[in-house]
Amino acid sequence: MCCSIIGYSSSSRGDDVDGAAPILVRGLRRMEYRGYDSVGVATAPGGRGQGKQADGGIMVRKGTGKVDDVNRSARLDAMPGSVGIGHTRWATHGNVTDANAHPHASSSGEIAIVHNGIITNFEEIKSELVQDGYEFRSETDSEVISNLLQKNYERTGSVKESMMGTVSRLQGEYAFVAMFSGGRLAAARLHKPLIIGVGKNDMFLSSDVLGFIEYTDEAVYVENGNMVTANGDMSTFEVTDFEGRPVKYSITKVSKEFGDAYKGDYAHFTLKEIFEQHETASRAGGTAVREIAEAARIIRGADSVCLTGSGSSYNAALVAKHFFASHAKKSTEAVMSSEMQFSSEGMGPGSVLVAISQSGESADVLSAVRTARKAGCRIISVVNMMTSSLARQSDVTIGMNCGPEIGVAATKSFTSQLVVLYRIISQVAEDRRLGGNGGDRGDSSSGNGSSDITGAVPGLILRTLEDPTGVQKVAKELKDISDIYVLGRGVHYPIATEAALKIKELTYIHAEGIAGGELKHGPLALMDDSTYVIVINPADSTYEEMLTSAREIKARGARIIGISDAHSDVYDHWIKIPEAGDKAGNSNGPLYAISEIIPIQLLAYYTALERNADPDYPRNLAKSVTVK
Ligand code: GLU
Repeated sequence: MCCSIIGYSSSSRGDDVDGAAPILVRGLRRMEYRGYDSVGVATAPGGRGQGKQADGGIMVRKGTGKVDDVNRSARLDAMPGSVGIGHTRWATHGNVTDANAHPHASSSGEIAIVHNGIITNFEEIKSELVQDGYEFRSETDSEVISNLLQKNYERTGSVKESMMGTVSRLQGEYAFVAMFSGGRLAAARLHKPLIIGVGKNDMFLSSDVLGFIEYTDEAVYVENGNMVTANGDMSTFEVTDFEGRPVKYSITKVSKEFGDAYKGDYAHFTLKEIFEQHETASRAGGTAVREIAEAARIIRGADSVCLTGSGSSYNAALVAKHFFASHAKKSTEAVMSSEMQFSSEGMGPGSVLVAISQSGESADVLSAVRTARKAGCRIISVVNMMTSSLARQSDVTIGMNCGPEIGVAATKSFTSQLVVLYRIISQVAEDRRLGGNGGDRGDSSSGNGSSDITGAVPGLILRTLEDPTGVQKVAKELKDISDIYVLGRGVHYPIATEAALKIKELTYIHAEGIAGGELKHGPLALMDDSTYVIVINPADSTYEEMLTSAREIKARGARIIGISDAHSDVYDHWIKIPEAGDKAGNSNGPLYAISEIIPIQLLAYYTALERNADPDYPRNLAKSVTVK
């Protein structure tokens, strides 16, 4: 995905308000990371939403090159008007020329559009419109949208109905914003992102939150197959389906950190965050030596320990439960935060709750903390946002320290959680070995087993990410499937559930994590030659049994994707991870867990791209779920 669209309209009624163009240029500049070859802006000087006005024509300026260059030569930001649209183009139909740059005005000049995507049936529509006498000035597919809108507007005199008539004809994939003379904006979305920025007296229509984050943090993620029509006041709007039926929408508060975050050369935050993990995982919890010592002391002395989180944080809790038992000989419980209210009976003043949350604002986690507090428990939290409600409510808080995570699906926060939890577990194990209670160990506590793993983590992750071409090849194959299963045993089972969660969130493919040993107790019935199964199969103590499971599945015709450091002929695709076990074949702490989830994060990301899903903004999901 590349290139961007933006629209801005404001209800300011003063004739002297010429505010749209500079706002649009700033938005385009912020979205530059998406890649483009041309830039353009159109405004409606004198447009106040009152329909056609004598002075209400549309002004268009555009050219090839970078935002700043075109702005300098064409003075985009000096264009008058409180309403406008802007575009950065990545040419698909027609060369990179000034004439092909967007916006494209209709032949009468009364309507202009900016479009991302491809209109696959543009030739047929164009020849009809040419026959009807509409003029075309570019070689793009996009220009049919403005002329089709004009034709429908001439027929209906209504912005909404002309949009309905237009989207019913367009095939392909698009997000476009249209500006009608007089300044009314409308937009539609089919397989390309479209987000409304909701201001106090103004509104934005953008392909990216970054287009408007400087001005508002309230966003409506428009669903596929829906369209938006600005009301006559120019700052409120209606969202409908393509047949014009109103649809419900919700306003999401987007993270303020968007304002500071840039994707650099990465196409998406999610990809950037996956590739950052060699740094983020190695520094997770690294500066919290005292807090970790204190957490270990409290946990060691506790009658019972419960780990809680939602989504990926719950999967991290399950991994930690496993290592608490195997490494620190401490039995713990892992409970989903949303279930805590139904399973808090055993909790009392001697208990500890370890609450895990990236944002520290998840309503379910906060509610679990309230339940535990009521029972008299102490609270240890593992959070990324140190100013969050969770951090404020905890006895001890350990920061993941992984920087803003913008992609909705957790990636780097998950691996950072694993490292922080493992540091705590190593400290409990070390205290146990020394027979003390931890006490005030200060800096001496850093000499435990956790330093071994954090030393190895960056190199291991870098090796995992070295060459994504194999993963990209598998993603192409997964493009059209409807179900996928992920198998893991032991500590790799919660990684399998995390893998399935990533695939669901990013690709919308039904995915299920299954414990390898459970196969025969039900799931084997699902296996046939249309099924794909990922087996998480590092060469540790789970290896042989998992290979047997893989063979059983293969015998039913399913295709096997092996995530392993050891090759096997049972794999149809082998995604190689670095060797990370100890000599006895035991899992060495979280090293395998970390290195096996990363290629699956990547696989989910690339499969999302193949399926035209936006990995940064999965449908129906929000980054921090602050409602129960
Ligand atoms: N298909 C259109 C063009 O070639 C739009 C490309 C884009 O998404 O920027 O102009």
